[in-house]
Amino acid sequence: MSLSFTAGQFVGDDLWVSVLDGDPRQYVDLDTAATSSASVAVAHAVQEFLPWYASVHRGAGIRSQLTSARYEGARDTMVRFVGGDPATHVALFPRNTTEALNLLAFRLDLTKDDVVVTTAVEHHANLLPWQRHARLRVVDVDEQGTFDVAAVEAALDQHPRPRVLAVTGGSNVTGWLPDLRGIAAAAHQRGVLVVVDGAQLVPHRPVDISALGVDVIAFSGHKMYAPFGAGALIAPRSLFTDGEPFLVGGGAVGAVSFDDVVWANGPDRDDAGSPNVIGVVALTASAQELSSDGWSSALAHEEHLLRALDSELASVPGLHRLGPVTGDRLPVATFNLEGVPHGLLAARLANEYAIGTRSGCFCAHPYMGRLLGLSEGEVGRFHADVRAGFRHRLPGAVRVSANRQ
Ligand code: PLP
Repeated sequence: MSLSFTAGQFVGDDLWVSVLDGDPRQYVDLDTAATSSASVAVAHAVQEFLPWYASVHRGAGIRSQLTSARYEGARDTMVRFVGGDPATHVALFPRNTTEALNLLAFRLDLTKDDVVVTTAVEHHANLLPWQRHARLRVVDVDEQGTFDVAAVEAALDQHPRPRVLAVTGGSNVTGWLPDLRGIAAAAHQRGVLVVVDGAQLVPHRPVDISALGVDVIAFSGHKMYAPFGAGALIAPRSLFTDGEPFLVGGGAVGAVSFDDVVWANGPDRDDAGSPNVIGVVALTASAQELSSDGWSSALAHEEHLLRALDSELASVPGLHRLGPVTGDRLPVATFNLEGVPHGLLAARLANEYAIGTRSGCFCAHPYMGRLLGLSEGEVGRFHADVRAGFRHRLPGAVRVSANRQ
């Protein structure tokens, strides 16, 4: 069966699309901070596994045994990928970062008497689960959209002592990288659990949670060359040995009667329902490729592209950037153009220049409010910006499935 998209055509690795004037243009995907397309290694791993998969932990047949082994093996691979130790850490496989942080906030058994310190930089995924289960204490940002370790210490020292510090590993709006090591040290000195939203950090930097002193990290496959539907929550095993799971149902139990249940031990307790084993195969393939590829050439390439983007944007009259434009940053740039609504700017970039960006508030309303100097409620309704970002591209990353007949 052939799959054709009239909107464009792949020539080798490059996608060509027709723009408004009818001319073909090479598509430039600067929206990869939202989702990055699958790499060749990921596509191959999935293809190879497709004939084999069967139920996880539910069948006695050889395919089921193989699938279960692959799924369980993936836990250690993912723990090691972020520098954890499988003896003390476990990987759970929620759908994405959002589900991972919801799951964690539920599993920590927080009450409205508990305080969670978080920051004004956060994506809603690292704000709303904590807001739902506990009381927030927010580390505010300066006009650049950054904060220092001293500001975190001040929040940690307020009474009552927080239980959790939830912080981003890197901003999806400005690309700013907080000093995770310093923040984690400050939190640990005060006995506070350190949770990192690694959705943007993990695809761009080698992460070593042991060296950083981070307790828990969450991230999404679809932002690191794997498809949608599988993310990871890496956490100390001790956090998940007791208590009620987030989702209840088959697989999460040891014994069930009409009025009682004994939960399963180990990660099974947090695996109710048939898991997304294909997604997990893709996620591990991506992690293995990122690790084995070595980071240095990828980092140098991203740095080079970011500087080029910085300097091009600096030359556009009336263009205003959000956040710091110097120092080590993830490769995203968010900006507005005087007098041009953000949606129109993004639409023109797409339809006239074949450049894919994202416009809006990037699921970070409080942060956008701070950066734009707006009061609560104004963000989203009246103001937003355009974001351009990229991933270093692994060899032949885009083409694999698009051109298959
Ligand atoms: N955290 C950050 C920093 C993000 O950029 C995103 C997605 O844009 C998320 C969390 C949520 O990721 P997901 O939609 O995969 O749950």
